[in-house]
Amino acid sequence: MDFTIILVILVLIIAAGYARRYYALRADLNEYTRAIRQQPDPSSTDAKELESLASAVSSLISMFSDQHSALESERSRLATVLDQITDGVLIADAAGLIQFANPAAGRLFQFGNPLNHSIVEVMRNHQLVEAWRRCQQTRQMQSESVEVPTRHQYLQLVVIPDQHSSGSLLLAQDLTRLRRLETVRRDFVSNLSHELRTPLASLKALAETLREGALDDPPAARRFVDQIQIEVDALTQMVNELLELSKIESGRFSLDRSPVAAADLLDSASQRMQVQAERANIALRIDGVDDLPTVEVDWQRLEQVLVNLIHNAIKFTRPGGEVLLSAKSIPGEVRFAVRDTGVGIPADEVSRIFERFYRVDKSRTGSGTGLGLSIAKHIVEAHKGRIWAESVEGQGSTFYFTIPH
Ligand code: ADP
Repeated sequence: MDFTIILVILVLIIAAGYARRYYALRADLNEYTRAIRQQPDPSSTDAKELESLASAVSSLISMFSDQHSALESERSRLATVLDQITDGVLIADAAGLIQFANPAAGRLFQFGNPLNHSIVEVMRNHQLVEAWRRCQQTRQMQSESVEVPTRHQYLQLVVIPDQHSSGSLLLAQDLTRLRRLETVRRDFVSNLSHELRTPLASLKALAETLREGALDDPPAARRFVDQIQIEVDALTQMVNELLELSKIESGRFSLDRSPVAAADLLDSASQRMQVQAERANIALRIDGVDDLPTVEVDWQRLEQVLVNLIHNAIKFTRPGGEVLLSAKSIPGEVRFAVRDTGVGIPADEVSRIFERFYRVDKSRTGSGTGLGLSIAKHIVEAHKGRIWAESVEGQGSTFYFTIPH
């Protein structure tokens, strides 16, 4: 019996222990549940974060696409500039292989497509290639200006080291026209000084001779004064022609056009030069002026052209010779001609006589200023016509000019 009571008490004690544990566990569970409930809704938090992430990504995408289209339009603008500029732009790698070339570069170096060709092949000029070599070695900008006689060019090359690679950027400029203009200007100044020096020196000599005694010898004095007059006239003519030329070349001249019968032009120029021709014992005739249309020209200036040509023809023809004037109607224009039986012009100089100050035989004193034909050329070209000469040395020359109608 006692044993049974003890067993019951033991069972009760064990049951009480389990019950306490159960209740403690339950309390803990309740605690966790409460704690979890108090947390904000986890699924809604994730959704919000995802939303803001998505909007950040989409604004990044639109920012990138804006930047991409800005870059694209910048790139196409740059490509247009590179396509259109007259300066050659080349990019070469470290070995000198061309990686980029704009169209002007191909034209300037007269090389079809420079891409993937070497600088040596494309430039074909020792000094230009050397400039590129120096840039590669020093990584410093180099520039070189050279005359390329085989291509009739004067080129300037600037080589800049590429900061982002070991290659280089090459800029080539064609300075041929600029150089030619510089030469023309230099020649003009030196020609002009030369042309002025000769008459001035002879004026000085004449004045000195007069002072040193010729004044006391009236017949000699008169001769010297006549000579002074001739030199002063020549100087005056040169100054007038220079002024005329500068007026024409600077565009400060306009044509005073009116309808003129081509035959009348020849008539009036021929009449003006008749006395001079007779004095030189040269026959001046008009030869062939059939069916000529009227031309819209500046009568005075065109007559000046004809007078200049006739004056030269008389000057360069020996006594007993002949000067023939003619005009012919050809489609769209009238072609005037002044033909002489004079000394003619050497074949290799015919194309140069229209240049300022150009004279075939510079030793022929008193033969003129060398400006007449360049003035004539300007006047004819202002009428949209052409002027040229044909000549056989020793057998005479023919000067032609056309006037459109
Ligand atoms: P210039 O005042 O010397 O005559 P131009 O300009 O009129 O100057 O002529 C230039 C040069 O062309 C002359 O000096 C001469 O050498 C040559 N020339 C022009 N016309 C003739 C011609 N009819 N016959 C031969 N040579 C000519």
